[in-house]
Amino acid sequence: MQRLSRCFAETYFDAREKFLDAAARRGATVQSFRNPTPGPEGRELFTDVARIGPADAEKVLVVQSATHGIEGYAGSGVQVCWLNDHAKLPDGTAILFVHALNPYGFAFTRRFNEDNVDLNRSFIDRTSNSLPENPGYIELADLILPPEWTRAARIAADVKFAAYAAEHGERALMFAFKQGQYTHPKGVYFGGQKATWSGETVKAICAAQLAGAKKAALIDIHTGLGAYGHGDCLTTASDVSPEGLRAIEWYGKVSCTKASNSSYSGSGCTIIEGYTMAAPHAEWTPIGLEFGTWESEDVRDAVRADGWLHAYGSPDHPQAKRIKAQLRNAFFPGDPVWRNMVLDRGVEVISHGLTGLAAWR
Ligand SMILES: [Zn+2]
Repeated sequence: MQRLSRCFAETYFDAREKFLDAAARRGATVQSFRNPTPGPEGRELFTDVARIGPADAEKVLVVQSATHGIEGYAGSGVQVCWLNDHAKLPDGTAILFVHALNPYGFAFTRRFNEDNVDLNRSFIDRTSNSLPENPGYIELADLILPPEWTRAARIAADVKFAAYAAEHGERALMFAFKQGQYTHPKGVYFGGQKATWSGETVKAICAAQLAGAKKAALIDIHTGLGAYGHGDCLTTASDVSPEGLRAIEWYGKVSCTKASNSSYSGSGCTIIEGYTMAAPHAEWTPIGLEFGTWESEDVRDAVRADGWLHAYGSPDHPQAKRIKAQLRNAFFPGDPVWRNMVLDRGVEVISHGLTGLAAWR
């Protein structure tokens, strides 16, 4: 129990304090990036970066939390756990903890950022004139987030979703929902129409911390997908590419999102592309680490409810408290069994990453 309360926090500010304390105790060098958008009660929000290991290391493992704000509770807990108990590094290797890439979503109990953007849909080529298209989202937008968040509206939407799936297939329905959309700024899984503060922060982190790296790895920690408490590794690389094969060698079972049965965004605009594009001089072995929570319909409904609150409600709406509790439970269950599984598996995957990086020639 003591490990859980030492590692996990119940607010963003508490998480930040635990992270900075753990980093200081380990003698990490810390760099902080302030988000210009203020947090709750006007308090400042930061992405903090803690580095352990030689400044000139050619091999660097990046372990990141809160690409999706609310999922930061789990990722932060893993980072603090490793800093507290597991600070041994292979020679010539540095570890870089990026804490709260999306501090706004973390602090305000949202998956999305201050611009309502899903960062894992946002790393598109902004120099190109065309944004990715999602006609299914356009067709279903007013059902995904109906103007009234009532039981009747949700039942009516479910009927139409079933008809859409019958006509186009379940996968097309999932794509419409989750693949990302660039047309509805108040909708869910919005990829943004311009660069984000967090995206610029990734570039600044890479410039400051990865300029000398020749080989780099990323473990980006998420929750809300997969079996309860399990931490599954995912990569956007194909399972026959060098990156994909390396990931499988290091971590064992890895889901490749280019596979046809994947439910993760494989559209080439995730945080993985964010890092690899910002430090293209390094060879990369990047993965997402996903801890399952509840059934996918329940997680999706929690995201929709919060999306509705953002689009049509307000923080003091009578449903707000219940919806925020629903979202929090969807991505950070209070169950100590789940939380212990996250810590055990999180530090195990970090250990696999360090071992793989050290052996990589
Ligand atoms: Zn996520």
